[in-house]
Amino acid sequence: MFNWFNVSMTRKVSSLSFILLSFLFVVILYSTYQTQKIYKEMQEVAEIDIPLTEVIADIEILQLKQHLLMESIRLQGDAFFADEVLQKKSVKGFEEFSLQLSLQLDKSINILHSGMKFGTIRINVADHQSLIQQINALHSHRIGFENSFSRFLGKREKHDLDSWERLEKQSGLLDAQSEKLLINIEQLTTKVAATVEKQERDFMIVNAILGFSAFAIGGYLTLFTILSFRRKVGSLRGQIESLHRSISSDESSNTLRSKGTDELDQLEKDLKILVARFSLEQDNRDEVETQLMELATKDKLTGVFNRHKWDEQIKDEIALANRGHHFSLILLDVDHFKKINDSRGHDVGDNVLKLLVSTLRKRLRETDILFRIGGEEFAILLRDTNLDDARVLAEQLRKRVETLNENGIPSFTISLGVTDYQDVDDQSSIVKRADVLLYEAKDAGRNCVMAG
Ligand code: GH3
Ligand code: MG
Ligand code: MG
Repeated sequence: MFNWFNVSMTRKVSSLSFILLSFLFVVILYSTYQTQKIYKEMQEVAEIDIPLTEVIADIEILQLKQHLLMESIRLQGDAFFADEVLQKKSVKGFEEFSLQLSLQLDKSINILHSGMKFGTIRINVADHQSLIQQINALHSHRIGFENSFSRFLGKREKHDLDSWERLEKQSGLLDAQSEKLLINIEQLTTKVAATVEKQERDFMIVNAILGFSAFAIGGYLTLFTILSFRRKVGSLRGQIESLHRSISSDESSNTLRSKGTDELDQLEKDLKILVARFSLEQDNRDEVETQLMELATKDKLTGVFNRHKWDEQIKDEIALANRGHHFSLILLDVDHFKKINDSRGHDVGDNVLKLLVSTLRKRLRETDILFRIGGEEFAILLRDTNLDDARVLAEQLRKRVETLNENGIPSFTISLGVTDYQDVDDQSSIVKRADVLLYEAKDAGRNCVMAG
C-alpha cells in the first residue's frame, strides 16, 4: 500500500508542488470562467434590463399624460365639445401621446428581440419572452384605445355619457395592463440582479475556498520542506560530527565549531573541515602503510629486501619467466664471516654487511633486485640477463668486494653461485641450483664464482 512517509523528500515536495499548482490552475480556470459568466450577466443587465426599465419609466410618464388629458376633457364637459381650438389641441396632444407610447413599446420589443437574437439574454429567457407577448398585447390595446378615442372625438355629441364611460373604462384597462407590465418587468429585473448577485457571491465563496486551500497546501509545503531540510541537515551535521570525533585523536578538536550564515553554509564548512581531516588522516595512513610495508619487506640492518619479500618475489619472477621474461640469479655468501664476528666483534660484522650491500648496489642496475636471505647470505635477481652476462657481473662483484679497503673494516671476500632460468624451473629448483653452485664455490676455496 502507498505510504506517504516512505516516499523520498524530492517526491514529496514535487507531488505537493504539483497539487498546489493544480489548485492554482483550477482557481485561475474557475475565476476566468466565472468572470466571463458574470461579465455576460452584467452585460444583460446593462444592455437589456436597464434600457427596459428606462423605457418603462417613459411609458409610465406617458400613461400619466394620458390620464391628465382624459381628466381635462372630462372636467371641461360640454365646453370641450363647443371649443374647437381646445378639441384640436387635445387631439394633437393625444396623437402625440399615442405616437410616443407606440415608439416606446416598439423600442422595448426591439431591445428584447435583439437580446434574444444575439443570445444576450441568458437569465429567465422564458420570462423575457412572455414580456414580449405582454408588450405586444399592450400595443394592440393601445391601438384599440386610439381608435375608440378618435371615434369618440368624431361624434362631437355633448351628452354621450355611455361612450365617455366606455372610453374611460378602456383607458383604465390600458392603465392596468401597463401597470401589470411594469410590475412584471420590475420583478424580472430584480430577479436578474439577484441571480447576478448570487453568482458573484458563489464565485467569491468558491474562490476563497480554493484560494485558502492553495494557501494551506503552499504553507504546508513550505513548512514541510523547511522542516525536512532542517532535519536532514541536522542529521547530516550530527553524522559529520560523530565521524569527526571517530577519526580525531586530539581531544581538543573533538567538536566542530564552524559558524555559517545558514544551515547549508554550516554544513559546507563542516564538510570542508571533515574532508581536510580525512585527507590529513589519509596522509598519515599512507605514511604508516609505507612504514609497515618497509618493515615487512625490508631488512632493518642493510635496507635491502628481506627474506619474506624474496619468497614473494621469486614466485612472481618465475611466473613472469614462464611468459618469456628471462632472468638470472646470483646467490652469494660472505666467506668466513663467523671469524670476522669472532675476531672484530658483532658490530664490525654488521658494518661489513652494510659495506657489502653498498658495494653491490653501486654496480647493480635499477632493474636488478638485491635481497638479504640469510645472516650473511644474499640473492640478486637480474632481469632480462642471460647466464654469461650474469657470470661476468658476478665476477665483477667478487673483485670489487675483494679489493675493498675501508677504514675500520677488515677486508673480506664473497663466494657466488650463478644460474639462469630454465623452462623446467620452479621456485625451489632454480634456488637449489644456485645454492649448489655457491657451495661448489665454497668447496673450491671460496672467493670465486661458479656458474651453470
Ligand atoms: P663460510 O665461509 O662457510 O660461509 O663460513 P661462515 O663463517 O661465513 O659461515 P657460518 O654460517 O658458519 O657463519 C655465519 C655467521 O654469520 C654466523 C652468525 O653469527 C653470523 N651472523 C648472522 N647474521 C649476522 C648479523 O646480522 N650480523 C653479524 N655481525 N653477524 C651475523
Ligand atoms: Mg659465510
Ligand atoms: Mg652463510
